[in-house]
Amino acid sequence: MANEKKTDYRAELFYQPKHGYDRITAKERAALEEYAEAYKVFLNEARIEREAVKLSIAMAEEKGFTEYVPGMALKPGAKIYYNNRDKALILAVIGKAPLSDGCVIAGAHIDAPRLDLKQQPLMEAEELAFFRTHYYGGIKKYQWVATPLELHGVVALKTGELVDVTIGRDPADPQLVITDLLPHLGGDQGKKTLSEAITGEGLKLLIGSVPYAEPGKDRVKLAIMSILNDRYGITEEDFLSAELMAVPAMEVRDIGLDRSMIGGYGHDDRSCAFAELKAILELKTPPRTAVCILADKEETGSDGVTGMLSQAFDFFMEDLCASQNVPLRRCYEKSFCLSADVCNGYDPLYPEVSELANNAKLNYGVGICKYTGSRGKSGTSDASAEVVAYLRKVFAEKGVVWQMAELGKVDQGGGGTIAKYMANRGIDTIDAGVPVLSMHAPFEIVAKFDCYMTYKAVAALYAAK
Ligand code: MN
Ligand code: MN
Repeated sequence: MANEKKTDYRAELFYQPKHGYDRITAKERAALEEYAEAYKVFLNEARIEREAVKLSIAMAEEKGFTEYVPGMALKPGAKIYYNNRDKALILAVIGKAPLSDGCVIAGAHIDAPRLDLKQQPLMEAEELAFFRTHYYGGIKKYQWVATPLELHGVVALKTGELVDVTIGRDPADPQLVITDLLPHLGGDQGKKTLSEAITGEGLKLLIGSVPYAEPGKDRVKLAIMSILNDRYGITEEDFLSAELMAVPAMEVRDIGLDRSMIGGYGHDDRSCAFAELKAILELKTPPRTAVCILADKEETGSDGVTGMLSQAFDFFMEDLCASQNVPLRRCYEKSFCLSADVCNGYDPLYPEVSELANNAKLNYGVGICKYTGSRGKSGTSDASAEVVAYLRKVFAEKGVVWQMAELGKVDQGGGGTIAKYMANRGIDTIDAGVPVLSMHAPFEIVAKFDCYMTYKAVAALYAAK
């Protein structure tokens, strides 16, 4: 009625985010549960980047993707992948529009914080054998002691042969651990700060205690080397050309009595990697070419041949563009990239580090981070208002539940992702991903709802005109 007087304009004028579970249908809830189960399997199996690449390739080939060969015909609908040294992967589905219209790129990373073995790892001290380690990525060192670990990776032999190593994944296998001090003798340790109480050099894996039968020096070390020689045919010198890493051994499990969350190692950033992967594997012929990046080395700054600062990505994209006689820069300037990386979920146990209105919360959907960086937004690519508006439009059309995110209070700290390296290429880029609790801990927590919405977000962008 024209003359009806309104008394409360809040619903119209205020932005009032709603809990995710109040926004979805029973049918979608079933889809969410199914998605979460598939993700749990992926997370449990892909504990290091090499395993993530291998598993992703197997899943892609099952969906008709083939390895890119330079010069191959790339018609709309062609599904290809580029394996960068078994540690990073790019997948693409050629779209209906020419590459001069740009691509839709989603970029996640598949490396995660862990303990790498040093190149001379094996040592014995007082008849106990250890592996020396060097941590990879940002860890709180105290979280990695007194927790079961597994060893994954490869040993590259002089012959060129690659030996795959996995110790601890099979339930019949032994596991490894780093010891901590008993509280009875931990008085002095307890007075140190959390970052000083356990040192980097102190992160040594306990790997054996029984001496070799013959008398002599380093008998326990010899016995361990003998076991490794039997199992893998390697000698101590072979460690020099090995990439072996200790990762948490905990199984991926549902968390909470309502089973609404998932606990596991490496949600950062495999929750987003799986979202992208599932979205691209389901594509037929998208409007614009869809690209899925599973990058390595994000946790150490994206340098190196398999990181996002590597030109390997540009070389691959240049090849795609060359097949359509399009200059790479023409493609980049019209492209859009969703840097799919996790954000911190608001944790009521630690309210002091976050500003609630702008921090992502569990179960409110995929977290969009307009800018990352620290202090005065140092080190951010800061996506434009226009880019955020584009996401609002696409997500509203496709029923993607999303929220704004920022990494803690203004002066609290900060961090970065691959976003700026994509933006520096001349590609409009914005961060989006799953809010995580206990990020970078050996056992991280995410909400199933947010994982599913991250997948829906990537799928919506791939399908957008
Ligand atoms: Mn990340
Ligand atoms: Mn991280």
